[in-house]
Amino acid sequence: MILEIKKYPDGVLKKRCREIKKITPEIIKLAADLSETMVKKDGAGLAAPQIGRLEKIIAVEVGNGPQVFINPIIVSKSREKEFMEEGCLSFPGLFLNIKRPRKVTVETFDLDGNKLKIEAQGLAARIFQHETDHLNGILFINRIPFWQRLKLKLDKKKNDK
Ligand code: ZN
Repeated sequence: MILEIKKYPDGVLKKRCREIKKITPEIIKLAADLSETMVKKDGAGLAAPQIGRLEKIIAVEVGNGPQVFINPIIVSKSREKEFMEEGCLSFPGLFLNIKRPRKVTVETFDLDGNKLKIEAQGLAARIFQHETDHLNGILFINRIPFWQRLKLKLDKKKNDK
């Protein structure tokens, strides 16, 4: 089922998600809806708060079809950082060049409850960071400098006129 995507400034996007303790049929349904919605909306990633759910689950697409991860956490990051352009389905039309670590290690579970350790770099590392941020109520506009955020506000005001 394709779900409605919550757009900024919906308050649900600022909330922290709960850990998933048990993979119930309801969670499997949520995983299916999350990945279907991501694919149909042409996203490279989608996190539960973006469809109004406060559970730690994300869908990710890094070139080999949609995948779903439960309770993902970033356990280490490379010192080396890089800029990459990011978009977000909760901010239609907004693309920001954001600096983040180039490599990350993610600990997570799959839908069978198996623990996984994923070493991601480049685009995959980027998507994991963006989506795990969502689970902690952090948005990509929180990852740019304050003055850049003010400039965005200014542009928006000009466009609103
Ligand atoms: Zn996003």
